[in-house]
Amino acid sequence: MIRANDNYNKLKASYLFSDIAKRVDEYQQKNPEVQIIKLGIGDVTRALAPAVIKGFHKGVDEMASDATFRGYGPEQGYEFLRKKIAKNDFHARGADISPDEIFVSDGAKCDTGNFQELFAGDIKVAIPDPVYPAYLDTNVMAGRTGEFKDGRYKGIVYMDCLKENNFLPELPCENVDLIYLCFPNNPTGSTATKEELKVWVDYAKENKALILFDAAYESYIRDEALPKTIYEIEGASKVAVEFRSFSKTAGFTGTRCGFTIVPKDCMVFDSKGRKASLHAMWNRRHSTKFNGVSYPVQKAAEAVYSGEGKAQVKQQIAYYLNNADIIRETVESLGFDYVGGKNSPYIWVDGKDRDSWDFFDLLLTRASVVCTPGAGFGRCGRQYIRISAFNSLENVTTAMARLKEALK
Ligand code: PLP
Repeated sequence: MIRANDNYNKLKASYLFSDIAKRVDEYQQKNPEVQIIKLGIGDVTRALAPAVIKGFHKGVDEMASDATFRGYGPEQGYEFLRKKIAKNDFHARGADISPDEIFVSDGAKCDTGNFQELFAGDIKVAIPDPVYPAYLDTNVMAGRTGEFKDGRYKGIVYMDCLKENNFLPELPCENVDLIYLCFPNNPTGSTATKEELKVWVDYAKENKALILFDAAYESYIRDEALPKTIYEIEGASKVAVEFRSFSKTAGFTGTRCGFTIVPKDCMVFDSKGRKASLHAMWNRRHSTKFNGVSYPVQKAAEAVYSGEGKAQVKQQIAYYLNNADIIRETVESLGFDYVGGKNSPYIWVDGKDRDSWDFFDLLLTRASVVCTPGAGFGRCGRQYIRISAFNSLENVTTAMARLKEALK
C-alpha cells in the first residue's frame, strides 16, 4: 500500500491568496466600473533591465551554435557568475566569501525550503512570527512539528515580532538548534543592525546552533550603516547560511535565479557530537537533487553585475523605494503606526484594534485597493496589513490618494 506522508495532514491549508482573490473578484463583480489597484502580492512589476536582457540574449545566441552550445553545467553554478557574486556582494562588504562557497539555484524559495533536509528530525527550530511561510511549512512537512492549534504548530519555538520589540525576534528562553532570520523582513519590512545580528551570531556560537539568514531583500537597504549580509558580523561564517535572490534585486521572479552561501568553516554535529562539514553536505544534496540553472539565465544574472547592469538595477530599486516613501507618507498622514518601507519594499501597518481581514475589506470596499492581511503570516500579524511598493508610480499615487480620501 502506498502510504502518504501524514505530516502533510498537519499543514494548515494556505487560503491566504485564494481568499484574497475571492474577495477581490466578488467586489469587482459588484463594481465592474472600478479599477482595483493591487498592492498585495509581493511580485515585481517592472521589466528586466536592458543590460540583463542583453546578457540573456547573448546566452540564448550561444546556445544556437555547436561551437558555443552548453549542455549540463556545473550544479553549483558557472564560475563566471559565482566569481562576480563573491566580489560584488561579499568582498565589497568586507565579507570573505569565496566563489566555491556559493551555490547558484533557481531561487530562494527552494533553497530556504530545502535546506532543513540536512538536519535531524528532532532538532528544535525557532521561527519568527510573522514570517515568510516557506520556513514553517517545510519543517511541518519534514515532521518536526505537532498539530496546529490556536494559530501555532506544537514543537516550534515561535519568536514574536511585535511593536514592543521593534519587530525584531528576541533570543528564545529555551535552547534551539536552528534559527530562521530574515532581514529586511518579509512581511514587516523591519531591519537589523550589526549589533542586533551579533547577538544571534554569539548565541549560535555558544549553543552550537545554526542561523538560516534570508537576505532576499538586501538590495533595498538604503542605510549604509545596516549590514547587507550576515557575514559582515565577525564569526558568522562559522554559524550562518545565507540565502539570496535575484527576484526582488533585479526583477527575476519569472526568470528564476538565486544563490545560497554555505561557508566552508560552518559545521554541524552528528549524533555522536562529531563535527561534519555543512558545505560538503549541501554540495552533496545540491548535486544529487538539482541540475543547475539554465545557461542563459546565469548569463542574465551575470549582467546584473556589469557597470550598466548595476546602474539600471539600482534605478529600478530606487523606483520601488520611491513608491514605498509615498506609501509611508500616506500611512503616517492618516495617523497609523507602521514599520518598514525605509529599507524594504514592504510597509507593515498597524490597524490598531482592527482585525487584519476587516482592515483588508475596508481598503478594498472604500478605496478599491488590495493589500495583504497580516494574519496570513502568523498569529502576530492579526492586527496588521502589509502594503507592497511593487507597482507603478502611477498606481501607487492613485491608490494612496484614494486611501487618504477614504480614511481621512
Ligand atoms: N524569501 C523571502 C523572504 C521572500 O519574500 C521570497 C519571495 O517573496 C523568497 C524568499 C523567494 O524568492 P525567490 O523568488 O528567489 O524564490
